[in-house]
Amino acid sequence: MAKKKSGCRASSGLSPHRSEAEHIVEICRRLHQRFWLSSADGNVSIRLDDERILITPTGLHKGFIGWRDLALVDCKGEVLWGRPSSEKLMHLEIYRRLPLARAVVHPHPPHSIAWSVARPDWKELPIDALTELVLAVGRIPIAPYALPGTQQMGDVLFPDLESTRVMILARHGALAWGESLEEAYNGIERIEHASMILAAAHAMGGITCLPADEFARLRVLREKLGPRTL
Ligand SMILES: [Zn+2]
Repeated sequence: MAKKKSGCRASSGLSPHRSEAEHIVEICRRLHQRFWLSSADGNVSIRLDDERILITPTGLHKGFIGWRDLALVDCKGEVLWGRPSSEKLMHLEIYRRLPLARAVVHPHPPHSIAWSVARPDWKELPIDALTELVLAVGRIPIAPYALPGTQQMGDVLFPDLESTRVMILARHGALAWGESLEEAYNGIERIEHASMILAAAHAMGGITCLPADEFARLRVLREKLGPRTL
């Protein structure tokens, strides 16, 4: 059972945020059912207000957590309730730098990670291979490896995350932020789905690209659609 720290403002624990916590739990179950995280891996958070985030716990299997297992952290990283993920600094950095961010989802989906292992030379997935991806996310950068849970990890994410809401963390996982939990979850689905298609294409003979003029046309369409993950 999570314990409250003394001197914290979250005196009533998680009860006022039960519906948000249950939403996070539902997303975690979905991630686990799709095998996009294993055991205690991965983390999900939402920004409750300007000062606090609700985040998944450290050390627990995300497929089996309940809403009471979640943790509350303030914007400086001070724990208000529970035992937050060791990757909370990464989440806090995203909320600090991106005022529009309301939710962050970070699982470890196998195909997304596998591309960063197989192709360490790639700075992003070959987005010009898939029409849907250009339109839905714009691009999928691959951030260089950084030790999880460190400040260095927060630093490697930017400025890419200011121009796109999805990314692969090399040899580690995938990351998406959104103006809602659904948008962030959709971003992860886009990353892993594209990674699976590219893996299948690679196995079937190789990855090819759209004609340059068609790709340019799609980029213009994407600009018109705006920055959100679709
Ligand atoms: Zn991770």
